[in-house]
Amino acid sequence: MSEKILVIGANGQIGTELVRALRMKYGSENVVAADIHNSAFPQSDGPFEHVNVMQDTELHYIFEKYHPTQVYLLAAMLSATGEQFPKKAWDLNMTGLIHVLDFARAYKPVKVFWPSSIAAFGPNSPRENTPQYCVMDPNTVYGFSKLAGERWCEYYHTKYGVDVRSLRYPGLIGWRSAPGGGTTDYAVNIFHEALENGKYESFLSADTALPMMYMDDVIHATLQLMDAPAEQVKIRSSYNLAGISFTPAQLAAEIKKQVPGFEITYAQNDPRQAIADSWPRSIADTCAQNDWGWKPQYDLPAMVSDMLKNLKSI
Ligand code: NAD
Repeated sequence: MSEKILVIGANGQIGTELVRALRMKYGSENVVAADIHNSAFPQSDGPFEHVNVMQDTELHYIFEKYHPTQVYLLAAMLSATGEQFPKKAWDLNMTGLIHVLDFARAYKPVKVFWPSSIAAFGPNSPRENTPQYCVMDPNTVYGFSKLAGERWCEYYHTKYGVDVRSLRYPGLIGWRSAPGGGTTDYAVNIFHEALENGKYESFLSADTALPMMYMDDVIHATLQLMDAPAEQVKIRSSYNLAGISFTPAQLAAEIKKQVPGFEITYAQNDPRQAIADSWPRSIADTCAQNDWGWKPQYDLPAMVSDMLKNLKSI
Protein backbone atom coordinates (compact mmCIF):
# COMPACT_ATOMS: atom_id res chain seq x y z
CA MET A 1 0.00 0.00 0.00
CA SER A 2 1.38 3.42 -0.84
CA GLU A 3 1.76 5.69 2.15
CA LYS A 4 0.06 9.05 2.69
CA ILE A 5 1.53 10.80 5.70
CA LEU A 6 0.19 13.67 7.79
CA VAL A 7 2.45 15.58 10.21
CA ILE A 8 0.53 17.84 12.62
CA GLY A 9 2.71 20.49 14.32
CA ALA A 10 5.03 20.33 11.29
CA ASN A 11 6.54 23.81 11.77
CA GLY A 12 8.18 23.01 15.11
CA GLN A 13 11.65 21.93 16.20
CA ILE A 14 11.02 18.25 15.42
CA GLY A 15 8.37 18.68 12.72
CA THR A 16 10.61 20.60 10.32
CA GLU A 17 13.23 17.84 10.51
CA LEU A 18 10.74 14.98 10.43
CA VAL A 19 8.87 16.33 7.40
CA ARG A 20 12.17 16.66 5.55
CA ALA A 21 13.17 13.06 6.37
CA LEU A 22 9.72 11.66 5.54
CA ARG A 23 9.64 13.52 2.21
CA MET A 24 13.03 12.06 1.28
CA LYS A 25 11.78 8.60 2.16
CA TYR A 26 8.22 8.64 0.79
CA GLY A 27 8.26 11.46 -1.80
CA SER A 28 7.30 15.10 -1.16
CA GLU A 29 3.77 14.78 -2.55
CA ASN A 30 2.97 11.98 -0.07
CA VAL A 31 3.83 13.94 3.08
CA VAL A 32 1.36 16.61 4.15
CA ALA A 33 2.78 19.16 6.59
CA ALA A 34 0.10 20.74 8.82
CA ASP A 35 0.30 23.41 11.49
CA ILE A 36 -1.81 26.10 13.13
CA HIS A 37 0.64 28.72 11.84
CA ASN A 38 1.68 29.64 8.29
CA SER A 39 3.93 27.13 6.59
CA ALA A 40 7.59 27.04 7.59
CA PHE A 41 8.32 25.26 4.29
CA PRO A 42 8.75 26.69 0.77
CA GLN A 43 5.57 26.03 -1.24
CA SER A 44 7.51 23.90 -3.72
CA ASP A 45 8.52 21.47 -0.93
CA GLY A 46 5.16 19.71 -0.82
CA PRO A 47 1.58 19.99 0.44
CA PHE A 48 0.79 22.12 3.49
CA GLU A 49 -2.51 22.50 5.34
CA HIS A 50 -3.54 24.91 8.05
CA VAL A 51 -5.04 22.90 10.87
CA ASN A 52 -5.96 23.48 14.48
CA VAL A 53 -5.80 20.05 16.09
CA MET A 54 -8.37 21.26 18.66
CA GLN A 55 -11.01 21.54 15.92
CA ASP A 56 -12.72 18.28 14.90
CA THR A 57 -14.06 19.86 11.73
CA GLU A 58 -10.58 20.81 10.53
CA LEU A 59 -9.21 17.31 11.20
CA HIS A 60 -12.24 15.81 9.48
CA TYR A 61 -11.55 17.91 6.37
CA ILE A 62 -7.92 16.73 6.25
CA PHE A 63 -8.70 13.04 6.88
CA GLU A 64 -11.35 13.12 4.11
CA LYS A 65 -9.03 14.94 1.71
CA TYR A 66 -5.92 12.77 2.18
CA HIS A 67 -6.98 9.51 3.93
CA PRO A 68 -3.58 9.35 5.69
CA THR A 69 -2.02 5.96 6.43
CA GLN A 70 0.34 7.47 9.02
CA VAL A 71 -0.18 10.47 11.31
CA TYR A 72 2.56 12.09 13.39
CA LEU A 73 1.09 14.32 16.10
CA LEU A 74 3.71 16.85 17.24
CA ALA A 75 1.47 19.79 18.21
CA ALA A 76 1.86 20.34 21.95
CA MET A 77 2.74 22.94 24.55
CA LEU A 78 6.18 22.17 26.01
CA SER A 79 7.41 22.06 29.61
CA ALA A 80 8.54 25.61 30.35
CA THR A 81 5.71 27.32 28.44
CA GLY A 82 3.23 24.83 29.90
CA GLU A 83 4.05 26.02 33.43
CA GLN A 84 3.05 29.54 32.38
CA PHE A 85 -0.24 28.40 30.85
CA PRO A 86 -1.13 25.19 32.72
CA LYS A 87 -4.75 24.81 31.62
CA LYS A 88 -3.99 25.63 27.99
CA ALA A 89 -1.16 23.09 28.05
CA TRP A 90 -3.42 20.39 29.45
CA ASP A 91 -6.14 21.22 26.96
CA LEU A 92 -3.90 21.19 23.88
CA ASN A 93 -1.84 18.17 24.92
CA MET A 94 -4.88 16.02 25.82
CA THR A 95 -7.63 17.17 23.46
CA GLY A 96 -5.26 17.19 20.48
CA LEU A 97 -4.19 13.60 21.18
CA ILE A 98 -7.69 12.26 21.78
CA HIS A 99 -8.96 13.91 18.59
CA VAL A 100 -6.24 12.26 16.53
CA LEU A 101 -6.75 8.86 18.20
CA ASP A 102 -10.49 9.11 17.47
CA PHE A 103 -9.85 9.88 13.79
CA ALA A 104 -7.28 7.06 13.58
CA ARG A 105 -9.93 4.73 15.01
CA ALA A 106 -12.57 5.90 12.54
CA TYR A 107 -10.28 5.82 9.47
CA LYS A 108 -8.40 2.56 10.29
CA PRO A 109 -5.86 1.39 9.34
CA VAL A 110 -3.87 4.48 10.33
CA LYS A 111 -0.55 4.26 12.17
CA VAL A 112 -0.20 7.05 14.73
CA PHE A 113 3.04 8.40 16.19
CA TRP A 114 2.82 10.56 19.30
CA PRO A 115 5.85 11.57 21.39
CA SER A 116 5.87 11.32 25.15
CA SER A 117 8.83 12.72 27.09
CA ILE A 118 11.25 12.11 29.95
CA ALA A 119 9.03 14.72 31.67
CA ALA A 120 6.54 11.90 32.34
CA PHE A 121 8.87 10.83 35.17
CA GLY A 122 8.96 12.72 38.46
CA PRO A 123 10.94 13.40 41.63
CA ASN A 124 10.32 9.90 43.03
CA SER A 125 11.31 8.09 39.84
CA PRO A 126 14.86 6.62 40.00
CA ARG A 127 17.06 9.37 38.53
CA GLU A 128 19.95 7.28 37.19
CA ASN A 129 19.24 4.73 34.44
CA THR A 130 15.53 5.32 34.89
CA PRO A 131 13.81 2.07 33.89
CA GLN A 132 10.82 1.60 31.59
CA TYR A 133 8.53 0.75 34.51
CA CYS A 134 8.87 2.59 37.84
CA VAL A 135 7.13 5.19 40.01
CA MET A 136 6.01 8.08 37.80
CA ASP A 137 4.87 11.18 39.68
CA PRO A 138 5.46 14.11 37.30
CA ASN A 139 4.91 17.51 38.90
CA THR A 140 4.60 19.69 35.79
CA VAL A 141 1.42 19.97 33.72
CA TYR A 142 3.46 19.03 30.68
CA GLY A 143 4.76 15.93 32.48
CA PHE A 144 1.40 14.67 33.66
CA SER A 145 -0.19 15.44 30.30
CA LYS A 146 2.46 13.14 28.78
CA LEU A 147 1.83 10.41 31.36
CA ALA A 148 -1.93 10.62 30.82
CA GLY A 149 -1.32 10.64 27.04
CA GLU A 150 0.65 7.41 27.35
CA ARG A 151 -2.30 5.81 29.12
CA TRP A 152 -4.68 7.03 26.37
CA CYS A 153 -2.41 5.56 23.67
CA GLU A 154 -2.33 2.14 25.34
CA TYR A 155 -6.10 2.33 25.92
CA TYR A 156 -6.92 3.07 22.26
CA HIS A 157 -4.60 0.26 21.19
CA THR A 158 -6.06 -2.32 23.59
CA LYS A 159 -9.73 -1.33 23.32
CA TYR A 160 -10.01 -0.19 19.73
CA GLY A 161 -7.00 -1.73 17.95
CA VAL A 162 -5.45 1.63 17.00
CA ASP A 163 -1.84 1.09 15.86
CA VAL A 164 -0.35 3.86 17.99
CA ARG A 165 3.38 4.03 18.70
CA SER A 166 5.28 6.33 21.01
CA LEU A 167 8.73 7.26 22.33
CA ARG A 168 9.65 9.08 25.52
CA TYR A 169 11.86 11.65 23.81
CA PRO A 170 14.78 13.06 25.79
CA GLY A 171 15.84 16.69 25.24
CA LEU A 172 16.47 17.21 21.52
CA ILE A 173 19.37 18.99 19.85
CA GLY A 174 19.36 20.02 16.21
CA TRP A 175 20.84 22.79 14.06
CA ARG A 176 18.08 23.32 11.52
CA SER A 177 15.30 24.48 13.84
CA ALA A 178 14.86 26.52 17.00
CA PRO A 179 13.67 24.91 20.24
CA GLY A 180 10.07 25.50 21.31
CA GLY A 181 10.02 26.45 25.01
CA GLY A 182 11.40 23.39 26.80
CA THR A 183 13.70 22.85 29.77
CA THR A 184 16.48 21.44 27.59
CA ASP A 185 16.53 24.42 25.17
CA TYR A 186 19.89 25.52 26.65
CA ALA A 187 21.63 22.67 24.81
CA VAL A 188 20.65 24.19 21.45
CA ASN A 189 21.01 27.87 22.36
CA ILE A 190 24.57 27.32 23.66
CA PHE A 191 25.84 26.45 20.17
CA HIS A 192 24.42 29.61 18.58
CA GLU A 193 25.84 31.81 21.34
CA ALA A 194 29.22 30.05 21.24
CA LEU A 195 29.61 30.80 17.54
CA GLU A 196 28.11 34.31 17.64
CA ASN A 197 29.46 35.68 20.95
CA GLY A 198 31.96 33.15 22.33
CA LYS A 199 30.03 32.92 25.60
CA TYR A 200 26.75 31.62 27.02
CA GLU A 201 24.80 31.95 30.26
CA SER A 202 23.17 28.62 31.05
CA PHE A 203 19.80 28.71 32.81
CA LEU A 204 20.59 25.26 34.29
CA SER A 205 23.36 24.71 36.84
CA ALA A 206 26.75 23.26 35.85
CA ASP A 207 26.04 19.76 37.16
CA THR A 208 22.44 19.28 35.91
CA ALA A 209 22.68 16.04 33.95
CA LEU A 210 19.78 15.35 31.61
CA PRO A 211 19.09 12.71 28.96
CA MET A 212 19.52 14.26 25.50
CA MET A 213 19.62 13.16 21.88
CA TYR A 214 20.92 14.49 18.58
CA MET A 215 18.18 15.17 16.04
CA ASP A 216 19.53 12.65 13.50
CA ASP A 217 19.16 9.91 16.12
CA VAL A 218 15.66 11.12 17.06
CA ILE A 219 14.47 10.99 13.46
CA HIS A 220 16.13 7.63 12.96
CA ALA A 221 14.46 6.19 16.11
CA THR A 222 11.07 7.57 15.12
CA LEU A 223 11.17 6.13 11.60
CA GLN A 224 12.57 2.82 12.88
CA LEU A 225 9.71 2.46 15.39
CA MET A 226 7.11 3.34 12.74
CA ASP A 227 8.62 0.79 10.31
CA ALA A 228 8.78 -2.03 12.87
CA PRO A 229 6.34 -4.91 12.36
CA ALA A 230 3.35 -4.42 14.69
CA GLU A 231 4.14 -7.54 16.72
CA GLN A 232 7.58 -6.14 17.64
CA VAL A 233 5.99 -3.04 19.14
CA LYS A 234 5.15 -4.62 22.45
CA ILE A 235 4.81 -1.40 24.45
CA ARG A 236 1.86 0.73 23.37
CA SER A 237 2.13 3.37 26.08
CA SER A 238 5.60 4.78 25.25
CA TYR A 239 9.16 3.44 24.99
CA ASN A 240 12.11 4.78 27.00
CA LEU A 241 14.69 6.06 24.51
CA ALA A 242 18.29 6.91 25.41
CA GLY A 243 20.93 8.87 23.53
CA ILE A 244 23.53 10.85 25.48
CA SER A 245 23.36 12.19 29.05
CA PHE A 246 25.47 15.22 29.94
CA THR A 247 25.61 18.34 32.11
CA PRO A 248 25.97 21.96 30.92
CA ALA A 249 29.59 21.87 32.16
CA GLN A 250 30.39 18.74 30.14
CA LEU A 251 28.75 20.19 27.03
CA ALA A 252 30.62 23.49 27.46
CA ALA A 253 33.96 21.63 27.86
CA GLU A 254 33.34 19.75 24.62
CA ILE A 255 32.38 22.95 22.78
CA LYS A 256 35.49 24.70 24.14
CA LYS A 257 37.68 22.07 22.45
CA GLN A 258 36.32 23.26 19.11
CA VAL A 259 35.60 26.94 19.89
CA PRO A 260 38.73 28.13 21.72
CA GLY A 261 38.04 30.76 24.36
CA PHE A 262 34.38 29.83 24.76
CA GLU A 263 33.12 30.71 28.26
CA ILE A 264 30.04 29.53 30.12
CA THR A 265 28.38 31.16 33.13
CA TYR A 266 25.37 29.97 35.12
CA ALA A 267 22.20 31.93 36.01
CA GLN A 268 20.68 31.59 39.48
CA ASN A 269 17.02 30.89 40.30
CA ASP A 270 15.72 30.14 36.84
CA PRO A 271 12.34 28.34 37.14
CA ARG A 272 13.48 25.71 34.63
CA GLN A 273 16.03 24.41 37.17
CA ALA A 274 13.25 22.99 39.37
CA ILE A 275 11.75 21.22 36.36
CA ALA A 276 15.12 19.72 35.40
CA ASP A 277 15.68 18.60 39.00
CA SER A 278 12.51 16.49 38.84
CA TRP A 279 13.59 14.63 35.69
CA PRO A 280 15.85 11.60 35.14
CA ARG A 281 19.59 12.15 34.71
CA SER A 282 19.93 9.12 32.43
CA ILE A 283 17.58 6.57 30.87
CA ALA A 284 17.62 2.78 30.46
CA ASP A 285 16.15 1.81 27.10
CA THR A 286 16.62 -1.97 27.01
CA CYS A 287 13.00 -2.54 25.89
CA ALA A 288 13.54 -0.39 22.76
CA GLN A 289 16.84 -2.18 22.09
CA ASN A 290 15.34 -5.65 22.50
CA ASP A 291 11.95 -5.14 20.86
CA TRP A 292 12.89 -3.28 17.68
CA GLY A 293 16.68 -2.97 17.69
CA TRP A 294 17.23 0.64 18.81
CA LYS A 295 20.86 1.87 18.90
CA PRO A 296 21.91 5.56 18.86
CA GLN A 297 24.72 6.71 16.54
CA TYR A 298 25.89 9.93 18.20
CA ASP A 299 27.98 10.36 21.37
CA LEU A 300 28.78 13.80 22.85
CA PRO A 301 31.92 14.61 20.77
CA ALA A 302 30.26 13.47 17.52
CA MET A 303 27.14 15.51 18.25
CA VAL A 304 29.14 18.67 19.11
CA SER A 305 31.30 18.38 15.95
CA ASP A 306 28.29 17.90 13.72
CA MET A 307 26.33 20.80 15.30
CA LEU A 308 29.26 23.21 14.95
CA LYS A 309 30.12 22.11 11.41
CA ASN A 310 26.52 22.59 10.25
CA LEU A 311 25.90 25.87 12.08
CA LYS A 312 29.11 27.34 10.62
CA SER A 313 27.94 26.43 7.12
CA ILE A 314 24.55 28.21 7.35
P1 NAD B 1 7.49 22.90 19.01
O1 NAD B 1 6.86 23.77 20.03
O2 NAD B 1 8.78 23.32 18.39
O3 NAD B 1 6.44 22.66 17.81
C1 NAD B 1 5.07 22.42 18.02
C2 NAD B 1 4.32 22.83 16.76
O4 NAD B 1 2.92 22.61 16.98
C3 NAD B 1 4.48 24.33 16.42
O5 NAD B 1 4.88 24.47 15.06
C4 NAD B 1 3.09 24.92 16.65
O6 NAD B 1 2.77 25.96 15.75
C5 NAD B 1 2.20 23.70 16.42
N1 NAD B 1 0.90 23.81 17.09
C6 NAD B 1 0.65 24.34 18.31
N2 NAD B 1 -0.66 24.29 18.58
C7 NAD B 1 -1.26 23.71 17.52
C8 NAD B 1 -2.61 23.38 17.20
N3 NAD B 1 -3.61 23.66 18.05
N4 NAD B 1 -2.86 22.78 16.02
C9 NAD B 1 -1.86 22.50 15.15
N5 NAD B 1 -0.56 22.81 15.39
C10 NAD B 1 -0.27 23.41 16.56
O7 NAD B 1 7.61 21.44 19.63
P2 NAD B 1 8.70 20.32 19.30
O8 NAD B 1 9.89 20.58 20.11
O9 NAD B 1 8.82 20.14 17.85
O10 NAD B 1 7.96 19.04 19.97
C11 NAD B 1 7.11 18.19 19.23
C12 NAD B 1 6.62 17.08 20.15
O11 NAD B 1 7.75 16.39 20.73
C13 NAD B 1 5.77 17.56 21.34
O12 NAD B 1 4.79 16.61 21.64
C14 NAD B 1 6.77 17.59 22.47
O13 NAD B 1 6.13 17.45 23.71
C15 NAD B 1 7.64 16.40 22.14
N6 NAD B 1 8.97 16.48 22.77
C16 NAD B 1 9.86 17.46 22.41
C17 NAD B 1 11.11 17.51 23.03
C18 NAD B 1 12.15 18.56 22.65
O14 NAD B 1 13.24 18.59 23.26
N7 NAD B 1 11.88 19.40 21.66
C19 NAD B 1 11.45 16.56 24.01
C20 NAD B 1 10.51 15.60 24.37
C21 NAD B 1 9.27 15.56 23.73
